[in-house]
Amino acid sequence: MLSTMQDVPLTVARILEHGATVHGASTVATWDGERAVRRTFAEVGARAAQLAHALRDELGVTGDQRVATLMWNNTEHQEAYLAIPSMGAVLHTLNLRLPPQQLAFIINHAADHVIIANGSVLPLLAPLLPQLNPTLRHIVVSGPGDRGLLAGFSGSVHEYEELIADRPTSFPFPTDLDERSAAALCYTSGTTGDPKGVLYSHRSVYLHCLQVVSAESFGFTARDLLLPVVPMFHVNAWGIPHAAFMVGSSLLMPDRFLQPKPLAAMITAERPTFSAAVPTIWTGLLDELDSGGEAYDTSSLDTVVIGGSACPPALMKAFQDRYGIEVIHAWGMTETSPLGSVAHPPAGLTPEQEWPYRLTQGRFPATVQARVVGPDGSAMPHDGVAEGEIEVRGPWIARAYFGGAGQQPDAGGDKFSDDGWLRTGDVGTVSADGYLTLTDRAKDVIKSGGEWISSVALENELMAHPDVLEAAVVAVPDEKWGERPLATVVLRPGSDADVRTLREFLAGRVASWQLPERWAVIESVPKTSVGKFDKKVIRASYADGALSVTKLGKE
Ligand code: AMP
Repeated sequence: MLSTMQDVPLTVARILEHGATVHGASTVATWDGERAVRRTFAEVGARAAQLAHALRDELGVTGDQRVATLMWNNTEHQEAYLAIPSMGAVLHTLNLRLPPQQLAFIINHAADHVIIANGSVLPLLAPLLPQLNPTLRHIVVSGPGDRGLLAGFSGSVHEYEELIADRPTSFPFPTDLDERSAAALCYTSGTTGDPKGVLYSHRSVYLHCLQVVSAESFGFTARDLLLPVVPMFHVNAWGIPHAAFMVGSSLLMPDRFLQPKPLAAMITAERPTFSAAVPTIWTGLLDELDSGGEAYDTSSLDTVVIGGSACPPALMKAFQDRYGIEVIHAWGMTETSPLGSVAHPPAGLTPEQEWPYRLTQGRFPATVQARVVGPDGSAMPHDGVAEGEIEVRGPWIARAYFGGAGQQPDAGGDKFSDDGWLRTGDVGTVSADGYLTLTDRAKDVIKSGGEWISSVALENELMAHPDVLEAAVVAVPDEKWGERPLATVVLRPGSDADVRTLREFLAGRVASWQLPERWAVIESVPKTSVGKFDKKVIRASYADGALSVTKLGKE
């Protein structure tokens, strides 16, 4: 029999309404390079309503049209995050670090009707205009920047503040929206092939928010000030903007000031309690704090979440030991909204006993089911030993990709199993108590003489050396072994360590057959559009002979 419970749709409009009223006094602040400029949630809610009016009444946005953003993390972006899905349209966050070709592809594929862009990124947008389809009718510009760059645009250009000014501060957001309809669209970073669009539903955003705020995930409260360094174009800033409105956590938006010095200055001045970003951001910040050049104060930060790629244990320990900041490791992907798993330890352990748990990729919540699939397709035990590809399913996990406007969903080739699970492309183990430990990306694992070497394990050991700032290990072809590891390292400024010393250091920590013979000291590790190590580029520069490689040891 059916239950007797109400069937109330889970929608972004509900999150907006709740945040803007019940938590109307919480604030969204944007860093302008020197100070934070603040608005209350009530004001942001009113401005979101004005934006919705402008989009509908003036720019003609109807139904589920896509409204894109090409913006840093700032208050106006938060307004777009709330207004666009609430009115029934689809928020399409554009990654402003993607190569121009891919950006143009994505805008055309999504058939974006409007782009809201920060003035500072117009130099990126302007060269794309000749490649964009006429479905793009409007560009709305927010903040300083040269509008003259858009002179060749055949549609109309608007000023954000002028567009929303003098409009009603409440909007009749539809109350009969199907909770399964699309709320937001985010494309994968597309390191191989064309980027794929993941369409999040109102229901998936809402349920994901409930998980994000829970104590076993990020644990947000109305007493928190959240600093999302992770960009709002990288999987919805991991759910932080919507989750903040759900529970009234104030937000500190870094805008384009993402370098270690301004980040440290903003943390010192504004005293956030929580932050989240990929490991490379934290490596840079740690270096800045350690340099001791300035008197920074990071004591307000209780927790930082590190995810998006494996967090080097040395980084986690350094934040804990030197700055008293608890680092929480989390795993996810564009297709998983992105949470994923979060590495809180179980009860009853000493801090020392907790470490192995905190270094895993984390524990799955009830709503994300995982299975480990062996090379022959069979399900492996969850015993923390059996290794295979991780597959997941749940109410905020994608089942297909966006096929393009008016098209059927794209089944994603072999990305989804016949019985509807997402194949993550990540290889690892799951323990009986639900902790995920990744050994590698399936495509980054090094297959040497029939054995697998984890590139991540070698990187983590190397990054524990005091002279190593960053290390990226990739597989390179080898006549005898099929593949062998190539270690590329970035040394700390002023360090005189050589690769021989690093190899000796590693020799004490990994099996001898895993020790790389090929070594290269590089200036910086190439990064993807979301700040992860771009191993494809390293492999290519090795193949081109562009890297200066030292060979050590026997082959
Ligand atoms: P993206 O969709 O661009 O966010 O990339 C998702 C991929 O990032 C995952 O499939 C993993 O390979 C990787 N990833 C995310 N979080 C972690 C983590 N904590 N440890 C290792 N890899 C991670």
